Amino acid sequence: MTTALVTGGNKGIGLEIVKQLVAEGIDVYLGARDVERGEKAAADTGARFVQLDVTDPESVRRAAESIDQLDVLVNNAGIIGGPGQAPGSVDLDAVRRAFETNVFGVITVTDAFLPLLRRSAHPRIVNVSSSVGSLSRMLGDETPIGLGYPPSKSAVNAITLQYAKALRDTPFKINAVCPGYCDTDLNNHNGHRPPAQGARIAVAMATLGDDGPTAGFYDDDGAVAW
Ligand code: NAP
Repeated sequence: MTTALVTGGNKGIGLEIVKQLVAEGIDVYLGARDVERGEKAAADTGARFVQLDVTDPESVRRAAESIDQLDVLVNNAGIIGGPGQAPGSVDLDAVRRAFETNVFGVITVTDAFLPLLRRSAHPRIVNVSSSVGSLSRMLGDETPIGLGYPPSKSAVNAITLQYAKALRDTPFKINAVCPGYCDTDLNNHNGHRPPAQGARIAVAMATLGDDGPTAGFYDDDGAVAW
């Protein structure tokens, strides 16, 4: 049976990714930093709870030790980081928070679970990025200004390519996805897409066949410009 781990699985897009993977017949570990919220979400979805704070290497290590098979890793946990990200009046702590979770968290979790994923015949890694991290789109008007969140997603894209490059010529498929602007706590519910719709591209990349792409960045409409 295919086994998956979704970080930040207790709400928003992550919760919907969990539900859709469970519906695919996948054995899903729902990673959450809060035990109560995580256990409840796991019970509600038919997933297994694993405590995992992506910014806490010790909790990530414990989570990796508690799992003995993994085929799919979805690095979904992410935060905006707080206000004060405008060039010229930056609160560096807000930028640091965004990078701590969105960038260093992805590296910490991916490295910790890589030994398990290497044992899989069909390993998949999906990094939940955002089109606001697209360097090509940054000069346009449709992406927001911010020194923390958008550049943290540019870094997620670069990290995706680095892992894909390091693991080329292996069965790994490693891709970044943009779920679109979804109605979640992250943006105070200003997004217009249902999170279940946002989850679909991550699920598609998590369940790619062996002929699927690697080292790509995708949304529902296909490839996103880097
Ligand atoms: P959300 O509703 O705020 O959910 C974020 C999830 O990440 C929550 O489960 C949260 O847990 C978890 N999380 C945050 N920090 C964590 C940590 N240190 N360790 C473990 N889990 C942590 O946001 P969302 O909109 O679903 O976002 C999910 C992903 O989609 C993020 O990577 C986000 O950047 C990306 N994204 C979202 C949108 C959008 O429009 N919503 C657009 C593009 C990309 P708690 O409940 O404990 O806080």
